[in-house]
Amino acid sequence: MKMQPISLPRQRVAPHLSIVVPAFNEAANIAAAVAQIHHTALRIAPSHEIIVVDDGSHDHTAQIARDLCASLPLRVIRLSRNFGKEQAIMAGLHAAQGAIVATMDADLQEPVETLGTMIAHLEDGFEVAFAVRAHRRDEGHIKRLLTRAFYRLISWGSDVQIPADARDFRMMDRKVVDALCALPERNRFMKGLYGWVGFRSIAVPVELNARHAGKSKFGLRGLLKLARIGITSFTDWPLRMWTGIGFAIALSALLYGGWLAVRTLALGTDLPGWTTLAVGTFFMGGIQLVSIGVLGEYLGRVFNEVKARPGFIIAEDYRAAAPE
Ligand code: UDP
Ligand code: MG
Repeated sequence: MKMQPISLPRQRVAPHLSIVVPAFNEAANIAAAVAQIHHTALRIAPSHEIIVVDDGSHDHTAQIARDLCASLPLRVIRLSRNFGKEQAIMAGLHAAQGAIVATMDADLQEPVETLGTMIAHLEDGFEVAFAVRAHRRDEGHIKRLLTRAFYRLISWGSDVQIPADARDFRMMDRKVVDALCALPERNRFMKGLYGWVGFRSIAVPVELNARHAGKSKFGLRGLLKLARIGITSFTDWPLRMWTGIGFAIALSALLYGGWLAVRTLALGTDLPGWTTLAVGTFFMGGIQLVSIGVLGEYLGRVFNEVKARPGFIIAEDYRAAAPE
């Protein structure tokens, strides 16, 4: 009997290296960034794909990236609105097919050649290679101080080590990406999650360049929001500390009450003393409001997770046709 030749659908072969690039209003940078990444990737990996995640840009970032698809191994995922960098990275990690996946900003602040160092570390058996800033001399004193305070707060009493100064510029083995994608939480603090999933990791110090064009998207407000999400998703000491504070206040109130009783017995009553009362009332009122606020912060996070909305929505997933 003659066998019929079977024709299999043409399949894309998974690339060796995927590079995920979140981009928000990076029209002035994206072409240069993609070109540099492509050239470096050609040198260090047998095959690669670049995934640009357009995080709801108001400029032509997506259009420019899409036009590059004809000539480069590029895929453009456009999110339906701005979901924030963390979600844009997640959208890219979900889409990435490489055995090794890197994430990198679109503004060329990070030296692209470091990808070569990172891939060498992965070949040496590390599962994660992440960039750390060699220094923060380019940042103001206040920002440096706040950053230090934040990392101290977040690692206080937590068993996950979150390296200070780690960047979102990193390279990960497929196992690590699968672990990150399997986590169900939606409000993500990626730097914490990278630490939480673990794996053998190595830090690669990098000197940051100045932004290729445009300015940073993270103002003080954005950073504070990220800090809030980070702290409430990785620590619970703000919840637990109220027990201690409550006990301390109750104990001092008891001691003070005792002393007042003794004094009254010895010296009789005196009317003045409303200052003590007023101060005590205001102080307690303040403390109670703060602690309710902390409860609200955590409750808000629980509420967000319970709603189970997806972390991002893909409006368009564009890539050039597979080469014949
Ligand atoms: N980014 C994003 N969504 C946002 C904000 C930023 O995808 O809502 C991207 C941005 O396009 C860039 C990267 O995240 O590729 C880092 O942003 P930026 O350079 O503004 O931050 P910084 O370097 O100051 O930390
Ligand atoms: Mg930047």
